[in-house]
Amino acid sequence: MNHKPKTAKLAQLDHKYVWHPFTQMADWLKHEPIVITSGNGAVLRDAKRRQFLDANSSIWTNLHGHNHPKINAAINRQLKKIAHSSALGFANEPASLLAEKLVHVANPKSLKRGQPHLGKVFFSDDGSTAMEVALKLAYQFARRTGNKRPKFLSLDGAYHGDTVGAVSLGHIDLFHNAYSRLLFKSDKVAAPYCYRCPYNRAKPERADAREYRKCNWECLGKLEQKFAAQKKKSNPYAGFVFEPLMQGAAGMIAQPEGWLRRAAEITRDNGAQLIADEVMTGFGRTASDFACHKEGVQPDFLALAKGLTGGYLPMAATLTTQKVFNTFLGKYDEFKTFFHGHSFTGNQLGASAALASLDILQSKESIKARKVLEHTLREELAKLWKHPNIGDIRQVGLAIGIELVRDWRTREPFDLRERAGIRICDALGKRGVLTRPVGNVIVLLPPYCTTPSQARRIVRVVYEACHEIFG
Ligand code: PMP
Repeated sequence: MNHKPKTAKLAQLDHKYVWHPFTQMADWLKHEPIVITSGNGAVLRDAKRRQFLDANSSIWTNLHGHNHPKINAAINRQLKKIAHSSALGFANEPASLLAEKLVHVANPKSLKRGQPHLGKVFFSDDGSTAMEVALKLAYQFARRTGNKRPKFLSLDGAYHGDTVGAVSLGHIDLFHNAYSRLLFKSDKVAAPYCYRCPYNRAKPERADAREYRKCNWECLGKLEQKFAAQKKKSNPYAGFVFEPLMQGAAGMIAQPEGWLRRAAEITRDNGAQLIADEVMTGFGRTASDFACHKEGVQPDFLALAKGLTGGYLPMAATLTTQKVFNTFLGKYDEFKTFFHGHSFTGNQLGASAALASLDILQSKESIKARKVLEHTLREELAKLWKHPNIGDIRQVGLAIGIELVRDWRTREPFDLRERAGIRICDALGKRGVLTRPVGNVIVLLPPYCTTPSQARRIVRVVYEACHEIFG
């Protein structure tokens, strides 16, 4: 059977009507797009019946693979009852069960006593809204507890979503500068980007190790200074916003062990709230459940999305404490209500998918498969160091960034206009592996069901693509 006419028709419709996110549409319109029609496990199929490995889990959302029988069944069971009813005025079964389960997994026994208990769940739609909710709650909480002009601090290179509040917390000039006059001001502080450490104190894994001095945590010193300077202005920071263990869109920047623990202590010592964005890092991606807990840190706000439903449906959650919740309680006419909500808040289909996904995540098989996959990838990725245009390889669990450089000795970055990352990802696509770069960093973030042989193939193909593009 010839699939060309169907593909051509679908591609035509896309070109005529659809505007794609984060995409230069002039470039997009030059090529026939890959039209995805189905998926199974880690494999996506297109209208031409070609197969691709989904090496970035469909932009970091998918956890257990496409078409997972257990998640499909959970959604189908719910669909027979009702797809959606509003959380404005009504409760529903899957959302209540999911809130209970999230509170359970977000407060592991392993955490030290005296840490905040995340006992309240506010549902929303996606990563941006989860962060928007955290921000608004933290802002109101700060105001209601005596900070009249709450200000927030986030990391250099931060990305927390595309709604205006989330963009205000971001520090990626390329994405955010265009809106600068639309945004409120938040401060930024150095991120622990060891590969490009301005103090030349990186812990290198390469042969040029002798050029480096011992790390003295200057980046944490900067954080302390920021807090101190803000306090002097009699306007202490209300909150510190961060992605724990690894900053995703900033360039898959892995934090060295101990950074998060100390950053959290500094934040607490300064009376600010910890606002953790685990939209990318959560649900087993970088640690057993949540990244914060790997360093024994419990934030005051935990934003979750992407993998919450196993990557099936748009749903998000912001978890916070009873203490924050209490500041919104009062008599009706005090108007302390949290005036925020979305039409699909607490959606039943999303919540059913999330409950099934969490069951799978906590199963012995999934835990074992993740360990094996992490190990396989680590072994395979070590082979990439030999390529002169691969400057750094950063792996935290099943989140990986491969930083492309002009020459590994000088670490000179490619100019973004050279589109090094895009060219490599195009070459990967031709070899049946789909992912998107962040700037000059190739992102590998495979679904947890990716088999060792599929993982080996992904890494091999990265090497081949580098060879094709850079020689
Ligand atoms: N926070 C982080 C850390 C993210 O990576 C993203 C999306 N890549 C977001 C927030 C925004 O999520 P969404 O695209 O679902 O709005």
